[in-house]
Amino acid sequence: MKYIDEFRDGVLARGVAAAIAKESRSAREYRLMEFCGGHTHAISRYGIADLLPANVRMIHGPGCPVCVLPIGFETTTPPTAVAVRQAAAEGLSNFSILCNHVLTPAAMHAILAGGVDIDGFVGPAHVSTVIGYAPYEVFATDYLKPVVIAGFEPLDVMQAILMLIRQINDGRAQVENEFTRAVTREGNAKAQALVTEVFELRQSFEWRGLGTVPSSALKLRPAYAAFDAELRFDVPYVAVADNKACECAAILRGQKRPQECAIFGTVCSPDNPVGSCMVSSEGACAAYYTYGRFRGQSASEIQSRVR
Ligand code: SF4
Repeated sequence: MKYIDEFRDGVLARGVAAAIAKESRSAREYRLMEFCGGHTHAISRYGIADLLPANVRMIHGPGCPVCVLPIGFETTTPPTAVAVRQAAAEGLSNFSILCNHVLTPAAMHAILAGGVDIDGFVGPAHVSTVIGYAPYEVFATDYLKPVVIAGFEPLDVMQAILMLIRQINDGRAQVENEFTRAVTREGNAKAQALVTEVFELRQSFEWRGLGTVPSSALKLRPAYAAFDAELRFDVPYVAVADNKACECAAILRGQKRPQECAIFGTVCSPDNPVGSCMVSSEGACAAYYTYGRFRGQSASEIQSRVR
């Protein structure tokens, strides 16, 4: 299938892996965060981590729990805007939304401001088709962190890792676009205009693993208040604490790996998810569990493999 098969070519993948091995410097560690659950999924599903040298470490960003919970990044915001506008045009009285759309660059700011030790980002794929890659330029100029926008196929991710390693080796911090077949600097102007017409910024929003992040989410503009479930219904915000054993927050900050959670694969599994990273196949813990081939094993077998 065009745009799929050529990005899953094993021979090409081995060539990129060889280039990564050759160009990464053994004297240093490369800590690279993939922001999106789609990248986390590709890394686990295609065994990309196994193709990387030990000093090239992938850190799973906050995208996975966001994408699997009833929340949406910039990718899903334009369709919501279309639905709200249509509801207004038809004068519907039985339609409302509880808006939890969040913003990727704000979360990246929070990650860097929180002091997470990262050398560069594999930047969002689908989000960037909407917002373009210009909004990430601040991370290169102000934080001196390279960003490479990458698609979700395995060769996209591997090429982005190689591009990041080259930037880091050169002492460069730029936004580069590996996903040229879908992303431009400016993004989708029509979708952006729709979102601006229907939504405005929230002062703050609480993210799993990141805490409260200012200006990181959207709400409906007053002109569309008739469709705002927060105004129409009594739906007070209820904070739900993570299970005390759950290490999702540390995993999303790159401080721990899924298998370092005491209940990974035993109490917490895709059939019985305890934390947000296990809820869907794109969560970091679910991806590790599924593609680490733990499925079907007993608790004691899993414990012996992850300890
Ligand atoms: S294995 Fe489950 S409980 Fe542990 S960090 Fe992952 S989601 Fe949380």
